[in-house]
Amino acid sequence: MRILIADDDAISRRMMGMMLQKMGYEVDCAENGQDALERLLDQDGPRMALLDWMMPEIDGPEVCRRLRAANDRQYVYVILLTSKDTRESLVEGLDSGADEYLTKPCNSQELKARLRTGERILQLEDKLVSAREEMRFKATHDTLTTLWNRGKILEALDEALPQVDSMAVLMCDIDHFKAINDQHGHLVGDEVLRELAARLRAGVRANDLIGRFGGEEFLIVLNGCDAARLPERAEKLCKAVSESSISIDSRDISFTVSIGAVAVDPLDAKTPSETVLNLADAALYQAKKEGRNRVVIAQRLVRGSIC
Ligand code: GH3
Ligand code: MG
Ligand code: MG
Repeated sequence: MRILIADDDAISRRMMGMMLQKMGYEVDCAENGQDALERLLDQDGPRMALLDWMMPEIDGPEVCRRLRAANDRQYVYVILLTSKDTRESLVEGLDSGADEYLTKPCNSQELKARLRTGERILQLEDKLVSAREEMRFKATHDTLTTLWNRGKILEALDEALPQVDSMAVLMCDIDHFKAINDQHGHLVGDEVLRELAARLRAGVRANDLIGRFGGEEFLIVLNGCDAARLPERAEKLCKAVSESSISIDSRDISFTVSIGAVAVDPLDAKTPSETVLNLADAALYQAKKEGRNRVVIAQRLVRGSIC
């Protein structure tokens, strides 16, 4: 664990540094409040700090206040060190956002115990953060495929439309998927969905968007793909995902997909996402009607209507 010592007095810094190193901590030093704040605001900065109250430029409590105001950083456990031993100072120190308040000269055993408390708090904080991240992931991702879920991909499409340069929206649906389920069982069907998701992900670029729209239906947004390029890109994706069969429990399972696609350009920036989706959906329906395993491109949108 790395700890920042912020103190303008070189001797105090060295003595404290030696004490902390003996306890097994890695030590960083700052000579003033400004330097301390910068180090603590750094994403890779130390997660514990011993701040002297009186320092040039910014004092300890002010470092605490500014650190707490910038709450996009991992939590930093702060101990204020001072020779001010009045109750008022203690209250002011804790009110500035410090977690602990120790008066100088501080006892090594007591400091050690306070630092252990700090580590426990940081561990709790880490658990909370990872639980929150997990919840956020679950709220925005599909459990089976780990792609974005319907809500998230629709939200992303809504955000992308008003600032569109050029992009294409594709609705991709597995052909006769019910038959795969009926013939091989739902678990195999799930495996096919997972594999298709992986193939779709591999078939688009890093800045493209992709989500599971419904059961065996996927929504894809190809960023920067204009009407001229769309047929080729959609055809390529359609072929690539079903090119090889999937081997599940020594059974080779082949499948195909149908894709309905629509190109969107800056003139469509005010078009509601619903209109775009309806066009892609209608094109998908057409692809199914024409025999499946194919791409149908909807006619281009102009200000929300078909031209
Ligand atoms: P089409 O070519 O017209 O799209 O025919 P289809 O059989 O693919 O379409 P249909 O809508 O008739 O059936 C879709 C099937 O997808 C029915 C449903 O049980 C299955 N399905 C939906 N979600 C899941 C899932 O998460 N896992 C599995 N295994 N099957 C699913
Ligand atoms: Mg289907
Ligand atoms: Mg379907």
